[in-house]
Amino acid sequence: MALIGSTTAEKLYNKYVAAGMTPAGAAGSLGNQDKESGLKPTNLQNSYENNPAKTGGVRYTDTTYTAAVDCGAYAGFVDDRAGYGIAQWTHPDRKRKLLEYAKSRGTSIGDLDMQGDFYIKELKESFPAVWKVLTTTTSVQEASNAVMLDFERPADQSVENQNRRAATSQTYYDKFAKKGSGTMGFTNSSLATVKLISPNKTVNRNHAIDIITIHCFVGQVTAKRGCEVFQPSSKGASCNYVVGYDGSIGLCVEEKDRSWCTGGYKKVNGVNVPIRVNGISGSSNDYQAVTIEVASDSAHPYAITEKAMAALIELCTDICRRNGIKKLLWSGDKNLVGNPAKQNLTVHRWFANKACPGDYIYQRLGDIAAKVNAKLGATGAAPVQPSAPVSSVPYKVRITATDLRIRKGPGTNTDIVQKAIAPGVYTIVSEASGQGATLWGKLKSGLGWVSLDFCKKI
Ligand SMILES: [Zn+2]
Repeated sequence: MALIGSTTAEKLYNKYVAAGMTPAGAAGSLGNQDKESGLKPTNLQNSYENNPAKTGGVRYTDTTYTAAVDCGAYAGFVDDRAGYGIAQWTHPDRKRKLLEYAKSRGTSIGDLDMQGDFYIKELKESFPAVWKVLTTTTSVQEASNAVMLDFERPADQSVENQNRRAATSQTYYDKFAKKGSGTMGFTNSSLATVKLISPNKTVNRNHAIDIITIHCFVGQVTAKRGCEVFQPSSKGASCNYVVGYDGSIGLCVEEKDRSWCTGGYKKVNGVNVPIRVNGISGSSNDYQAVTIEVASDSAHPYAITEKAMAALIELCTDICRRNGIKKLLWSGDKNLVGNPAKQNLTVHRWFANKACPGDYIYQRLGDIAAKVNAKLGATGAAPVQPSAPVSSVPYKVRITATDLRIRKGPGTNTDIVQKAIAPGVYTIVSEASGQGATLWGKLKSGLGWVSLDFCKKI
């Protein structure tokens, strides 16, 4: 598995959580490894550094020891009883397995990714009781003690030392577990090939990422040019990502920070006050949203290119994966603001007197969500055909048929949610093309999709 994160600690934290540890379990692992090695994967136990008597007559540093093991010049790795790596593996059995594992993966003995995976493998295979604690506990102290007393087993096992390691573990917990979705620290998309960080941001979010807000950047720019526009502090605005007309993706504000993107104000008694929806302003939206500006035409309906659409869908999928968003939900219902469990796509036009994201994107949000969900493998997500021309949503339809089915997605190849919708008037909030109908419409209730062939627009 690839490493995700900007620091060694963050990379290991994300790896451990992805493997199944609780945030407390991952933090307890990190606190111990910090004390063992300073999280340095090439760390050779200090008493063995520059000590030729212990290492076959040769004077080694962390770097030269690692290189000598890798090229086979030093054969004493397994039996020298020198602590090595992030967990300071020492016992010959464990060092032999570490060496075999590195060889099987074709990596250096000092490779961080390999050592992180080996730690997980060792826990599962040889320390199942510790693994069980790390994958179930919510207590940092319990996790830290389990690793120290039953896995690392340092010479000093005093309560004082337990508390020192637990305190270090706690700092990692505070750093990664508290700020994220509860399952991971904030990371950035590796799909971004341009990185031009804007000064227009609030450092550190106060909320997990559970929303995506797609905007239109009025003008067919590249990601680089789009990011440049947000560089001057005088601009006073930014976004997390820019998607260019050519499909390029730029990082403008790191995901760990709040972008200044969705804000909007109205004048009350001559004073600008934020527009709030269900008590939530555009700036509070941005504390929990990743904001994306997509290059668009400069006039209604602010169309975007096919390349930009494809890149947008990939980026949204990646954001969902890294932040634990299982499915994108869109009903076009402003009243659901503040309820991301029901709707986790929001639009700027609700928070400001603006057309953003433009009708072209707005009418395709249901389609975008369906395509992202298909990539995420979300339950009930349907493979979606390329978009048919869409009309302006929302609109009302009358249904008179008594046997019209509601389906999970836009297509007869998706599950039936309800065998017959009660005849009456319904609101369609999104359209998409798909198998078995000329066009499918998404019900405002969020229950599912119906064939528009059996609906009469009113
Ligand atoms: Zn906008």
